[in-house]
Amino acid sequence: MNYRDIVARMQARAMARPLNRRTFLMGSAVSAVGLTYPGLARRQATPVATPVFGDNPFTLGVASGEPLPDGVVLWTRLAPQPFEAFGGMPVQAVEVQWRIATDEHLTDVVQSGTAIASPDWAHSVHVEVEGLEANRPYWYQFQSGNELSPVGRTRTAPAAGTMPDNLRFAFASCQRWDQGLYTAWRDVAAQDVDLVVHLGDYIYESRVGLPPFRDDVKVPVRVALEPMDLEHYRYRYALYKQDPHLQEAHRLAPWMVTWDDHEVHNNFFGDVKRDEPAAQMVLERRAAAYQAYYEHQPLRKESIPDGPDLQLFRKRLFGDLLQVNVLDTRQYRSGQGINCNAADRTDGYCADSLDPARSLLGARQKAWLLDGFQETRTRWNVIANQVPMARIDYDADPEMQSFGGTEMDKWDGYAYERDEVVQAMSAAAGANGFHPVVITGDVHASYVWDLKTDWDDDSGETVFGTEFVGTSISSNGDNPLRDDGGFTTQCGNRNGNAHNHFYDNHRGYVLCNAGAERYSAEYRVMPNVSDDAAEAVSLATFSVDWNQTGAQIDSSCVPAVPGGES
Ligand code: FE
Ligand code: CA
Repeated sequence: MNYRDIVARMQARAMARPLNRRTFLMGSAVSAVGLTYPGLARRQATPVATPVFGDNPFTLGVASGEPLPDGVVLWTRLAPQPFEAFGGMPVQAVEVQWRIATDEHLTDVVQSGTAIASPDWAHSVHVEVEGLEANRPYWYQFQSGNELSPVGRTRTAPAAGTMPDNLRFAFASCQRWDQGLYTAWRDVAAQDVDLVVHLGDYIYESRVGLPPFRDDVKVPVRVALEPMDLEHYRYRYALYKQDPHLQEAHRLAPWMVTWDDHEVHNNFFGDVKRDEPAAQMVLERRAAAYQAYYEHQPLRKESIPDGPDLQLFRKRLFGDLLQVNVLDTRQYRSGQGINCNAADRTDGYCADSLDPARSLLGARQKAWLLDGFQETRTRWNVIANQVPMARIDYDADPEMQSFGGTEMDKWDGYAYERDEVVQAMSAAAGANGFHPVVITGDVHASYVWDLKTDWDDDSGETVFGTEFVGTSISSNGDNPLRDDGGFTTQCGNRNGNAHNHFYDNHRGYVLCNAGAERYSAEYRVMPNVSDDAAEAVSLATFSVDWNQTGAQIDSSCVPAVPGGES
């Protein structure tokens, strides 16, 4: 099958919506062409240099991402009417000016240029700035016609071969818009971090509900419907990205993003038989979801989608201190395994979990990850990952084991490959002297787990790394506090999982500080996500000492449940 055909059909369909004439007024010389509908055939080849807008087009904010020692990506999208087709823009390319400076008042501009916002990409722009100085902040701004964007702040990575004092970064995931407010993002924005890592479920594809705490936004039906094509995925991002707290978190720090399943659909897996007719609709939907993802994130050119394919797994270095390995555990994974009854489990696993033919990473990504561990020279290797990697028994009965619980979507559902990855990671960490730190989203709860080469070893001797699982920004909404107003914090063993150190089920994120000697992870959680006045609480901080053999966690965790420390 020809994926170019898929893309062409998709774009034609997206363009077959009438424009909103009120919101975009072209300069008089081009107005006759610019407002002629349908736009496809008569589209003007030359970008409009000085568009005149009825409304400010920077409604979705600005963002930066993918920091290197000498550059970053600057992002914005022109959308004067974000809930209209093409964000209220004409089916016509428009010029966008950008500039980047060493000061927040933009007096010392070091580079500037003009980017083209094309309707083919929803009038988004991805500027790859090069030639910047390492490990310092920069400020940037976009302009189109007479309209100015907010001023964004970003930061370059430390230079190769240097050992920076530390890197402060937040990681987060799972921000279902209609289940909670983004007050956790407001807290991230206030932290002055060097980097934000998003682990997926940036959008949810389900039909949008209308909760009372979001009643200040009028959501048109076409925006609320479950997206199946490019136009409707674009509406979903337009809805999410209008949130002021999310915009501030993007505006103030560079991000590195990866996706989980809901950027396409629930429990999505990418390994489909492409030559079967039944796969056509799946691939077409996926191509639409991937394109909308690229259009709305500060990604590099390597991630420009090619139909239903988008290169997302990648590594970024932060001097000799830390390497971030961003995984894509969705695009290449084998289909969901079949769950089984307790009686059919082998050593706590269903048959599919132990099938050597099933893969979460896909062969190419697995080789890339494991080969990379051989070459690494940084102290910390952060593996930015979607689903829980540690083996977890979800059965509270000490006589029974159910690894991964009732769903097969986690690494436990691909246990054969997981244990292969774990053994290789541990061996490389020992040989090259780095600590692996897996950071995870997906489960909408906070956990801290040891990673061990022998999951049945309760002595701690086979611990070689740490997994920090961050809760959701908003997904699942409020969990009530206890009667005394406290959180549900449990320190230590849960359900007989000796490698578990921490659990809580409120919303929030994790604030990390990687230093040369020590890596710490602070769990910041929200008492609720239905009241915009709610403030984040620091629930517990865990740290891993670099000098110790294996990852010994030095925790400050106050058990909030009587008897919770067991
Ligand atoms: Fe989620
Ligand atoms: Ca059990």
